[in-house]
Amino acid sequence: MQQSAEEIVQTIVQKTGKSISEIHAIVQEKRSKFAGLLTEQGAAFLVARELGAGIETEKYASEKLSIAQLRNGLRGLEIQGIVQAVFPEKEFKKGEKIGKRKTILISDGSGEISCTFWNDQIQKLEKVENGDTLKLTNCFVTEYLGKNQLNIGNAFTAEIIEKNSKENSHNSSAKNRNELLVSNLGSLKENQQNLQVTGRIVRIYPLREFDKNGKQGKVQNFEIGDETKTITCTAWNESTTQVNLVRIGDIVKISGAYTKKGLKELELHLGLIGKIEQQIGHGKKIPLLKEFRKEIERKSIAELIVGEKFKEIRAKITQVLSGKLHFLLCGKCRGKLEKSENNYSCEKCGLIQEPLLVPVISLEVDDGTSSIKATFFDQQAEELLNMKTNDLEKELKTKSVESIITELNQKLEGKEIIVTGNVRQNPFNQEMEFTVREIIEIA
Ligand SMILES: [Zn+2]
Repeated sequence: MQQSAEEIVQTIVQKTGKSISEIHAIVQEKRSKFAGLLTEQGAAFLVARELGAGIETEKYASEKLSIAQLRNGLRGLEIQGIVQAVFPEKEFKKGEKIGKRKTILISDGSGEISCTFWNDQIQKLEKVENGDTLKLTNCFVTEYLGKNQLNIGNAFTAEIIEKNSKENSHNSSAKNRNELLVSNLGSLKENQQNLQVTGRIVRIYPLREFDKNGKQGKVQNFEIGDETKTITCTAWNESTTQVNLVRIGDIVKISGAYTKKGLKELELHLGLIGKIEQQIGHGKKIPLLKEFRKEIERKSIAELIVGEKFKEIRAKITQVLSGKLHFLLCGKCRGKLEKSENNYSCEKCGLIQEPLLVPVISLEVDDGTSSIKATFFDQQAEELLNMKTNDLEKELKTKSVESIITELNQKLEGKEIIVTGNVRQNPFNQEMEFTVREIIEIA
């Protein structure tokens, strides 16, 4: 079946009437254009196609390129990889026509790439699941937002070489997805794929929507830092919703990310499988938020003004205020939930099976100039409780809220606390409150 480079050249010569040396020169030029990524045979095939010498795609067994070797413009490729994610089919409207699009993400250890199927092409994916080893033929590479994407020519095949084995499954552990665990941000290099890093959220910029060649997208930047470096991160499209799940000061694990040289320096990007998760208990070696945000300023409580951000206060805990110790949010977008009967629903995401429990604790603190209600959420509440959210959830089922607060009050009352955070006005009672971003010290 497979034709050698020389056989392909012979065919081109026959069909085009050009000389052998002429064709050889064009083939060599093609090879140098792809910086050595194409074999002689692969280049000959591309030339044949461009000159209309009619070599059938099916007969062309291209060199197997790894995903990391793919470059914009390569065509007629055979790509093999493990399916990392199968995204839901989406409908789109182009003029009068309604079309369908489906995307899957495959990885071969060298890297990962998303692969888009259109309309009738989608049928061939019916049986494809996460963890399957999939072979695709007649693929071509394009670039979108600076990232390679795989597209499928019409006469393509999608063959499941190996059915989803448990080891390959979509479970997001680093090992299964060939994630590259990078121990600190300073050791990130250009063009690394499928990375996992840990850092503290230092800044979050507003979400932006854009329109590029008729395609709409969303982008959101944020910064994370550790003891070695601060890096700008960019979340694209779907992954921007995950930026809602975290707050400035949180320690997060970012997985499924890739690096790219930005305008000035290296950037971390979150594409289709990019994930941001709160990471608790890894805070020890990551510097405090105030190390990154030099603008953080110590103030007395009497000096605080509503709307101020990144202030530090040092005060005595006078009491743990009564409250429910938790509230529920949508686990997908951290949006507000509506309760009906036994169900919760989110305005954006619909019915929610498992709402997200967010711990919250309010303390009254006093520094001699005045007193203020200081509110601790998420990681900061966990730190006060010395308990993970899961454990609080269990505790709330067996103990009364009052008894948990009484215990906490015994532990905290009279202690001195240094915290950084923002000053806001409670929309219900108009009182000034301090929203804690970070606990610097409790003594
Ligand atoms: Zn939601």
